Amino acid sequence: MSYLDNLRAVTPYVPGEQPKAENIIKLNTNENPYPPAPGVAKILGEIGGKEDRKYPDPTAGRLTEALAGRYGVKRSQVFVGVGSDDVLGMCFLTYFNGNKPILFPEITYSFYPVWAELFRIPYETVALREDFRIAPEDYRRENGGIVIANPNAPTGIALSLSEIEEIVAGNPDSIVIIDEAYVDFGGESSLSLLDKYPNLVVVQTFSKSRSLAGMRIGFAIASEELISALQSVKYSYNSYTMNHAAILAGTASVEDEEYFVKTCKQIVRTREWAKGEFAKLHFTCTDSRTNFLFVSHASVPAKKIFEELRARNIFVRYFPLPKIDNFLRITVGTDEEMEKLFAALKEILAACRTGGIL
Ligand SMILES: *Cc1c(COP(=O)(O)O)cnc(C)c1O
Repeated sequence: MSYLDNLRAVTPYVPGEQPKAENIIKLNTNENPYPPAPGVAKILGEIGGKEDRKYPDPTAGRLTEALAGRYGVKRSQVFVGVGSDDVLGMCFLTYFNGNKPILFPEITYSFYPVWAELFRIPYETVALREDFRIAPEDYRRENGGIVIANPNAPTGIALSLSEIEEIVAGNPDSIVIIDEAYVDFGGESSLSLLDKYPNLVVVQTFSKSRSLAGMRIGFAIASEELISALQSVKYSYNSYTMNHAAILAGTASVEDEEYFVKTCKQIVRTREWAKGEFAKLHFTCTDSRTNFLFVSHASVPAKKIFEELRARNIFVRYFPLPKIDNFLRITVGTDEEMEKLFAALKEILAACRTGGIL
């Protein structure tokens, strides 16, 4: 027996690299290439830390109010946290306390098994179909809760609203969390199902579609009852999760709907153009409804392309995992960044051809 026996042993989630070098093209963590709404910089300049002597508003009232208005729900149906990772972790802790295993797809956001392990929640993963689609009918077995990323990551593939409804309606005795981190790039949000299904929790983030990954803002929308349970757990752990700057920056972002729509549309436009460019270079692409593409080359291994891109200061994400180890997840950057990516890919493929890999 040693004091070390009392440590909580966990294998942490591994975030994508954040290289510090200048002149790199960073397409590895699905950040938005465009700046946040202009009102964000303005408000941050104005407050300049003046309020930070005091504790922030523990209810994050202004942000909660803005989100309730934007999504047409009551304030008491909105919970905000330090990125959706904080919100999702809090949801796991609050909603998954049974003995039956929770379910999530075998290939999905790799934080889900980490929270399950951390909070000692039993879980089972559900295989995807051959084409990487989630099969809603496979979520009809006994479970203690369900988590679905929609669109899913890293595949980028979305379920339709009726497929999501099939899962939520088929599991009235379980809480079903839909992680909509990428929904603003062309998925269908399940928020419209909230009136019908009290067991549904929708989680979204400001990190991708609102260009605020660094501010750490995420939120959940659900029935008053489920949100109230989440608040109780939060206030039992840390009352002041959201700092003053994040509350005001988030509010400014929500208030500028026009800018939000414009930047999301630009990313979708670049994504659809990029799909065509990948096809010309003999890559297959999933039908991504996100701000990233999940691609695989007909003959050159993904790992090789990943390494060659890295040597050229272009960072993309490679997962050395079963079933997806011949794919790359590439964030949709600006048109200019994508042009540079394709120029590098052409060079790499040409070199492989001469080198006999192709
Ligand atoms: C990025 C991401 C999140 C978390 O993002 P935060 O920055 O913590 O808000 C959650 N789920 C999925 C599927 C993501 O890709």
